[in-house]
Amino acid sequence: MPDRIVGGRVVPDRRKPIKMEPLQALAEPVLEELYPGIWKRSEADIDQMLRLMYAGVWRDHRDEIVADIQAFADFHPVDEQRSEPAIKAWSQQCAAELEGEYSQSYYRIAVHVGLLAYVGHMRVLRAKITCDPGWHRIVERFHYACSEQPGYGFSGAGEKWGGLSLSYRCDPSGEETCRAAEAVAVEVAARTCERCGRPGVLRTGGWHKTLCDEHAGSRYDD
Ligand SMILES: [Zn+2]
Repeated sequence: MPDRIVGGRVVPDRRKPIKMEPLQALAEPVLEELYPGIWKRSEADIDQMLRLMYAGVWRDHRDEIVADIQAFADFHPVDEQRSEPAIKAWSQQCAAELEGEYSQSYYRIAVHVGLLAYVGHMRVLRAKITCDPGWHRIVERFHYACSEQPGYGFSGAGEKWGGLSLSYRCDPSGEETCRAAEAVAVEVAARTCERCGRPGVLRTGGWHKTLCDEHAGSRYDD
C-alpha cells in the first residue's frame, strides 16, 4: 500500500488521490468540445494546419499561457467568480497583448480551453478540501506546484489547530519538492484569513482559527 503524507507525517494511503495532467493535456477534452475543427487530426493538410497552429502556440508560449491562467485564478479565488463569460473575457484580454493576428487567435483559444480545464479540475479538487474558502487558492497553488512530481496525488486539505493541514502522496524522488511546496502553503495560510483570504493571524481562546480582524470580530465579543 503506498504511503501518504499527512501534516508532515507519512501514513498508509487508503484513499484514491487526485492527479493532475499538464494543462495542455487537461485541455484536450475542452478543445474537442468547443473547437472540434482544431481538435480533430485529419489526414487532409488543411485540417492539420489548424492543429499545428494550436500546438505551436503552446510550444512557443507555454509559460505565458500558464501564467495567464494562474493570474485569472488569483484574481478570481472563489469558485462562483469563475464564470464562463469571465473566462472568455480574460482569454481575449490576454491575447490582445500579443503581436500577430494568428498568434492572437490561437493564444486566445489556448488560454480559453486551458482555463476552463483548470477551473473544472480545481472544482473536483475542492470536493476534498474541508477548510474555508479563504485558503482554497493556497491549496490550488500547492496542488499545481506538485502536479508534475513522480507519484504525486492529492488526498485532502483541512484546518487543524488553526493551521492548514495537507494530505497527499508522492514517490521518494518527488518528496523534496512536495514538502517544500507544502511548507510554503502552510506558511502562507498561517497569515491568511481562512474565511476570506485577506491577511489574518492565528486567534486562540477556546477555538484556534486564522482570521482577519473582521472575521475574528464576528466570532468573539471583544
Ligand atoms: Zn476574513
